Amino acid sequence: MAAGPPSRKNGAMSAADSTEADWVSRFADEVISEAERRAPGKPIVCASGLSPSGPIHLGNLREVMTPHLVADEIRRRGHACVHLLSWDDYDRFRRVPAGVDPSWAEHIGKPLSSVPAPPGSPYGSWAEHFKAPMEAALAELGVEYRGISQTEQYTSGAYREQILLAMRERERIDAVLARYRSQQREGYFPYKPYCELCERDLTTVTAYDDDSTELAYTCECGFGETVRLAEHDRGKLVWKVDWPMRWAYEGVVFEPSGVDHHSPGSAWIVGGQIVGEVFGGEQPIGPMYAFVGITGMAKMSSSKGDVPTPADALEIMEAPVLRWLYARRKPSQSFKIAFDQEIQRLYDEWDALGRKVAGGEAQPAELAAHGRAVRTAAGPLPVTPRPVAYRTLASIADVTTGDSAQILRILGDVDAIGSLEEARPRLDRAQRWIDTQVPAEQRTRVREAPDAELLDSLGEAEREALAMLVDGLDAHWSLDGLTTLVYGVPKRQAGLDPDAKPTPEVKAAQRAFFALLYRLLVGRDTGPRLPTLLMAVGADRVRKLVGA
Ligand SMILES: [Zn+2]
Repeated sequence: MAAGPPSRKNGAMSAADSTEADWVSRFADEVISEAERRAPGKPIVCASGLSPSGPIHLGNLREVMTPHLVADEIRRRGHACVHLLSWDDYDRFRRVPAGVDPSWAEHIGKPLSSVPAPPGSPYGSWAEHFKAPMEAALAELGVEYRGISQTEQYTSGAYREQILLAMRERERIDAVLARYRSQQREGYFPYKPYCELCERDLTTVTAYDDDSTELAYTCECGFGETVRLAEHDRGKLVWKVDWPMRWAYEGVVFEPSGVDHHSPGSAWIVGGQIVGEVFGGEQPIGPMYAFVGITGMAKMSSSKGDVPTPADALEIMEAPVLRWLYARRKPSQSFKIAFDQEIQRLYDEWDALGRKVAGGEAQPAELAAHGRAVRTAAGPLPVTPRPVAYRTLASIADVTTGDSAQILRILGDVDAIGSLEEARPRLDRAQRWIDTQVPAEQRTRVREAPDAELLDSLGEAEREALAMLVDGLDAHWSLDGLTTLVYGVPKRQAGLDPDAKPTPEVKAAQRAFFALLYRLLVGRDTGPRLPTLLMAVGADRVRKLVGA
């Protein structure tokens, strides 16, 4: 870019300036201008690729969310844009995951789409079995894409010209690959057939004739044959050639990939040379995205495997919150998705942002990330009509052990909510989180009967504090009111006004009072926030348990 004055020619702010801090908008700018240079007037192509070789890890969602957010921004600006999602279901089956019948090892080397689904699955193949939950999760997340089965592409002959070209140019491809390895090799072929007899890829190409396209291969199973590649649809290009071939074939302008693809000699680096030198295309704009980790996911049942999937995340958080995690972080920033107690803090942050947005106080980048979380170019995602704080819902679900009538009573007290539907789907997510992620020993069990021994042992000041609490319950029966009440009791005992700043002595007295209440109500020193716990337990039962 030429050096020039810092001010803009006409002094006007462009759309990009107004969301300057938002990474999605910056990539959209870049992709739109690049697409106009490469293929003016054509729909802009963004791409992702997923291998349905097993449960698709939640961390891999970034492979889809990054181009989704960029494609969505491009659509919002009124450009035609397709997000292609390649299902790499023609890749070989590499290993049998733990928990699956070990006899599946006989299928190693076959395309994922030719391997039977795990026992008991309603799906026709291994690939379909693992695609299905991902497709459902993407639908819930509002991700609009065009799925492409690489099995269908290869077996229908869609890539025939590209395969013949790659074979003709095999020496040139090998020369590119040789830039990254020390020794030369003989007889390189970028195409690998799946064996006609055993369906596996344990094959070696032994000869190829460019003119006739006759290709001879042998297989470790003992089979061997000569086919005409111009008519043969049972094999695929090796990965480092397959990927750049598809960039050119599909005209991909944006496709991010994980850091593991970016080392010297890796598919991204090599592909960038092969796409131009062999296929006459261009490499996409392709940011490297950083690792997404998971914190604190409870061990899953062995039938499901120990892999956290997007579907697992959507069981405990609403789609907009999961979208927000990806929208607010640049692809180069790693982050963690919380399955542990942190999810409550995450939801607090999300609700606080919602209030800032509603109040017109959000910064441009915050506003952009929030907007990308709650809606797509196609429209808004479903929301919870009455979004009670997640930690409150979790405590209610915990204390009531999921009893609907009790939950409804408490929600009515907490926020005048008249039906559970108003609190859904957030209520269901919090309930699910309590049920699946909070260990039994951390669950709250409200005492059935008063702790007579503890009550008998109390001193005069403690009895007085409990009496003050019980006297104030009805007048303070709301989360805010009970907060004032429980903090206020030790202040009043110390002769302070309920609004006064607590002294260190009063703070100590508050801690002791709260611990006493927890012991009397749930038999432990800690528990859910006291106002929530008191409302969940109910005034009558509180009175009974504190000996009033
Ligand atoms: Zn074979």
